[in-house]
Amino acid sequence: VIARFWGVRGSTAVPDASHLRYGGNTCCVEVIDDAGGLLVLDAGTGFCQLSDSLLDGPFGRGEGELTVLLSKTHWDHLLGFPFAGIVHRPGNHIIVYGPDHAGRRIEEIYEQILAPAYSPFFALANMGASHEFRPIREEAFRHGAVQLSARLLPDGGQGSWGYRVEGAGSALAYISDARYPECRPTPGALTLARGVDLLIHGAASTLAEQQAGETQCSIEEALALAIEAGARRLVLCHHAPERTDDAIDALLERYRAQLRAQGHRLALDAASEGMTVQL
Ligand SMILES: [Zn+2]
Repeated sequence: VIARFWGVRGSTAVPDASHLRYGGNTCCVEVIDDAGGLLVLDAGTGFCQLSDSLLDGPFGRGEGELTVLLSKTHWDHLLGFPFAGIVHRPGNHIIVYGPDHAGRRIEEIYEQILAPAYSPFFALANMGASHEFRPIREEAFRHGAVQLSARLLPDGGQGSWGYRVEGAGSALAYISDARYPECRPTPGALTLARGVDLLIHGAASTLAEQQAGETQCSIEEALALAIEAGARRLVLCHHAPERTDDAIDALLERYRAQLRAQGHRLALDAASEGMTVQL
């Protein structure tokens, strides 16, 4: 299994010179399974760059198929999808697992953001590729060469879906936009992250920076989950838009020193666009 980061920013895209090393696109991670199958975790603006990279292959000929797993329906997780070239190429097939929200299915939510008031595409029917929208369930299921499982995690609102992707002998978990009550990882998060080679976790702020009503885990909460679940490597993502490259470097240095001082073997990184992790 290979994971490649195309969008690592939360909330809004930040195309600023001080953010270029880690990258300014919003959430998108490509996962390639052992048989070459494609899964995409969230479809923020990074999804457009991923799409460009795929147009040289089967997707450029209208023979591609991929599956998108959405963690939630906020814009930083959705908005790359309508603008990606591969979804306008007839013959391609896109499967989207997304949450129901306030009684509306994920395809209704996409129809709304494609409406003339918001986009030049008007409706899903005008996208060239065929689409299949499926609700997420917590039961594990087989998808291509991997086993997939999902958990609805608390975020102070309608919840955020976390995922576990298991290949032959390797596993990763992806959790973004969750918020654990009283800063304690929930059983669902622990189930997803248990013993994974790679835990990708959203953490836009430090514990000291968190404000009342925060809907995101702090870096400390992500670390606590990784340690308790026995993850081998934690990659922080969903960086705050105001966090510059230098500020992320400084945070990494601080938390790596803390891990060393506490005797933990967990490897800690911050996701950057183009970063590839082979499991
Ligand atoms: Zn988000």
